[in-house]
Amino acid sequence: MSETRRCPYCQSSFLLSAYRPQQRVCGQPDCQRRRRADYHRKKLATDPEYRQGAGESQKQWREEHPGYQKQYRKDHPQAVERNRQQQHADASGIL
Ligand SMILES: [Zn+2]
Repeated sequence: MSETRRCPYCQSSFLLSAYRPQQRVCGQPDCQRRRRADYHRKKLATDPEYRQGAGESQKQWREEHPGYQKQYRKDHPQAVERNRQQQHADASGIL
């Protein structure tokens, strides 16, 4: 017995494979790409470990969330100030 589902991206029905009962997106390459991109974005937003492991993508995440660092500085003024003093001390150490 087979079941059909509707793909959330292209809205077309697809036949659910008995081997992949969790499948929610149809097999079209475009939809699979979007599914992976959504999964990646969701993991980046919710899973700090995944974010660290993502490496290069962390840069991308910051580009997609330009307000984040600004907001961090606003929420952690002491940390930012400490960081600034630290950098200052390091710089004068070199000189
Ligand atoms: Zn689709």
